[in-house]
Amino acid sequence: MSEIDDLVQKLNVNIPRYTSYPTAPQWNQIEKSLFHKKLQDRDAAQPMSLYIHIPFCHSMCLYCACSVVLNRDPEKEERYVQALLQEIELAAELVKPGTFINQIHFGGGTPTKLSVGQLSRIIEVLYYHFNVLGDAEVSIEIDPRTVAADEGIKLRSLREMGFNRVSFGVQDTNEEVQEAVKRRQSFDMTKKTFLKARSLGFSGINIDLIYGLPCQTVDTFTTTVEQINSLKPDRIALFSYAKVPHIKPHQKAIPDSLLPSTVDKFAIYKRAREGFIQGGYTAIGMDHFAAEKDPLAERFHSKTLLRNFQGYTLYSGEDMLGLGLTSISFMTDGYFQNRKELDGYYSSIDCREVPLERGLILTDEDHKRRYVINRLMCDFSVNKSDFKDKFDRDFDDHFEGCLNALNEHIADGLVENRDEAIIVTKKGEMFIRNIASCFDEYLQKTANRPYSKAI
Ligand code: SF4
Repeated sequence: MSEIDDLVQKLNVNIPRYTSYPTAPQWNQIEKSLFHKKLQDRDAAQPMSLYIHIPFCHSMCLYCACSVVLNRDPEKEERYVQALLQEIELAAELVKPGTFINQIHFGGGTPTKLSVGQLSRIIEVLYYHFNVLGDAEVSIEIDPRTVAADEGIKLRSLREMGFNRVSFGVQDTNEEVQEAVKRRQSFDMTKKTFLKARSLGFSGINIDLIYGLPCQTVDTFTTTVEQINSLKPDRIALFSYAKVPHIKPHQKAIPDSLLPSTVDKFAIYKRAREGFIQGGYTAIGMDHFAAEKDPLAERFHSKTLLRNFQGYTLYSGEDMLGLGLTSISFMTDGYFQNRKELDGYYSSIDCREVPLERGLILTDEDHKRRYVINRLMCDFSVNKSDFKDKFDRDFDDHFEGCLNALNEHIADGLVENRDEAIIVTKKGEMFIRNIASCFDEYLQKTANRPYSKAI
């Protein structure tokens, strides 16, 4: 095996993706009154983002690790929309009137499984209760299979409702791979939907891909990368297949024998990363790519990117209000997650209570580590004097133990510990989760790691 193959085997441990710190397994039961207070105390002039979760899907893609409710009953979806509208009203009663919103994102599940009328009612209620800024980013995740059959009518309606960004789920364009994961979506369908969205004037189009799926090889995925490059999306997310059958039992239907080995999976990832960089994209973090003129690339170069549950973001107000089943809010210094079962979610809403299940208030130490992990994930570096300015602590003194843990990665040429900064090398960029984990106090203390593998 080559040196890089050895490294891949060594670093392929269970590790978080760091869309939050502390990560979700550390969150516990939390008082609803705390959440109320965070919302009530917010300064209305400080913009926040909204995340709306629509959990329904028509059928299960075998790789899926999202919070999904399989459903083909329109009445069930209408029941959910009504509860969601009530939840929006409950939250709006808690925040100060006129609270500014700079970003709205609809995720799932499959948000476009809802009808145009249902989506439009949700948007209307959001705009009624909140002060959505004129230049707000309003985005939605789209399964092309839900908008391909109507000659663009639904896509046009989304544009007219005010959505200005779309994210298309593609995963892989190869038919054998699609068959193996039970998600059939021809490239022709993806291309037509993509071009329709372009012609309708969506200002940003993302494409989501997954590497490490059954039947994938470097060659098949290189073709996928070339096809996606030919469309010229503004952003590409290239996620690792998160194999967590203990949490998502439907994944057991994918035989291990069809999955690429760890070394092959990394080779697929590495080749795809090179393909997107050669195609003119800036690599952001381990798994995101932004076109040269995309604001995300500009923010990456100026080291002003931020990270939240959806990945990378431009928006400076960090607060995010999550609405809907399982959705997560971040308010000032705390994470709050909604209930995960539909019945429990409905019973809270019916009692006019926020449907909160668990959360965590960050300690001072959590804030310091969250800052360092976020800078590493966003900038591939941490400036030690910036840390000192922010927390009034010497970086090297404060993180002595973490720097010891980092030594192994320094020896492998993944990162440098200079006097002024921690700098991740080009090789280390592909292992950024491993490097960031040296600053994760909880991970170091726990043997139970319910995360997917790093590669
Ligand atoms: S991958 Fe997307 S469409 Fe497929 S089951 Fe998961 S959320 Fe639904």
